[in-house]
Amino acid sequence: MRIAIHWFRQDLRVADNPALAAAAKQGKLLPIYIWEELPPDAPSLGAASRWWLHHSLAALNGALGGALSFYRGNPAAILAGLIKRYDVQAVCWTRCYEPWRIARDTRLKAELRAKGMQVETHNGSLLWEPWVIKKPDGAPYKVFTPFYRKGCLQAAPPRAPLPAPQSLDGFHDKTGAQSLQQLGLLSADWDKRLAPHWQVGEEGAHQRFQLFLQEGLAHYKDGRNFPAQPHVSRLSPHLHFGEISPHHLWHAVQAVAPDREGEHFCSELGWREFSYHLLFHNPQLPSKNLQPQFDHFPWAEDDAALAAWQKGQTGIPMVDAGMRELRATGYMHNRVRMIAGSFLVKNLRLDWRHGERWFWEMLVDADLANNSASWQWVAGCGADAAPYFRIFNPVLQGQRFDPDGAYVRRFVPELAALPNKYLFSPWDAPGHVLRQANVQLGKTYPHPIVDLQISRQKALDALRLMKGQV
Ligand code: FAD
Repeated sequence: MRIAIHWFRQDLRVADNPALAAAAKQGKLLPIYIWEELPPDAPSLGAASRWWLHHSLAALNGALGGALSFYRGNPAAILAGLIKRYDVQAVCWTRCYEPWRIARDTRLKAELRAKGMQVETHNGSLLWEPWVIKKPDGAPYKVFTPFYRKGCLQAAPPRAPLPAPQSLDGFHDKTGAQSLQQLGLLSADWDKRLAPHWQVGEEGAHQRFQLFLQEGLAHYKDGRNFPAQPHVSRLSPHLHFGEISPHHLWHAVQAVAPDREGEHFCSELGWREFSYHLLFHNPQLPSKNLQPQFDHFPWAEDDAALAAWQKGQTGIPMVDAGMRELRATGYMHNRVRMIAGSFLVKNLRLDWRHGERWFWEMLVDADLANNSASWQWVAGCGADAAPYFRIFNPVLQGQRFDPDGAYVRRFVPELAALPNKYLFSPWDAPGHVLRQANVQLGKTYPHPIVDLQISRQKALDALRLMKGQV
């Protein structure tokens, strides 16, 4: 019996999966997932991601009629074992773009081919391969707008999505595989917290997308800035784990909304492509400032401030609401990610890598390319970064993007009874207003851990110092 292995990684879906479709054509399908031993340069998966992965694998296994075989360990050894035991003709997988994975996959592909194996790798995760988009002189892009407008939109359009295979004739490796539970991804605490907020898996991804088409897309361009409104898709974890393909989103959105809303949504998918482009061409993106002058930035050391930020106890309501949304749901709205990130690196002057690591642990959509590119953007040390001197004011941001306070009231309920005028800066409220709202600063809600104006000025001074202007 000719066997073709499809090795699932970050493509946990059946529909529009070119590598899976290729494997299914080669022979009897052996679909596998390997919980990998990581090389030292690879960051281990955060707790929220492990929670998502467990449920996504369970959903995928259901869609494959229980045929998915799970393993733990070294992929090269596990594949070699399968090749010895079965008449394997081909091994297929969807490309991943983390630098350590590119290096490992390249080696593995050569080893398998040397054993006479047919190896097929496909792009199932990006609209354009990161090496395809380049400037006329062949150099990679460093700025988003030309990357997207001159690079992506002038390149060959993303391929049309493939239909789901009619039937997948998969079989399960009964002798060698472990159970999903044996991978040990799940912890009860995370399950209780995150499960009410998500329907993990391919079906959940498509339902989420349908809801977004009905309720979100029509006002996406402006509405996406308001965290209490239903105008963002919340598809990021589904995209990260490959439960839905960007090709499907791109074509479906263009078909129903060939207008400014659809265009804007596609350009946000373009930001995701840009992050991958940056990571591919700058493998040190997760750890090294893209602008080397930031290597001399005088970051502060303050464990207590970092802990207050992580817990959502900074005394700045808009920041705390975001950090608590993250803890409660594994997600934070993009506008608030920018506000909370700016507060960490500018008002607290803590190194952006502290923020990057915390998000990596806590986000269900933690993604090496998007997370590191976004943190470098927020910190001002990235390729196409927000200038360092542009410092978000979390009070004004709250008043503008959460005008009726619904977002802050949901995640910082101890301030719920404050009138809107003081909700974003309770330290400005007169005593009787605080008393009426049952707020005791320093007891029921913290005093701000920094003064926003003074810390802003200190950040600007540090920047000037770094640039050698003082
Ligand atoms: P939508 O607005 O519905 O957008 C649709 C899709 O486009 C998203 O799912 C996402 O894949 C992509 N997208 C949207 N905005 C961005 C963006 N600014 N950069 C890159 N891709 C984008 N995104 C992650 O997927 N993983 C991360 O680890 C991550 N970390 C971040 C850290 C910081 C400090 C900041 C400021 C942003 C980060 N982002 C990250 C980007 C962005 O916040 C999320 O992609 C977005 O909030 C996901 O919500 P959504 O699916 O509702 O987005």
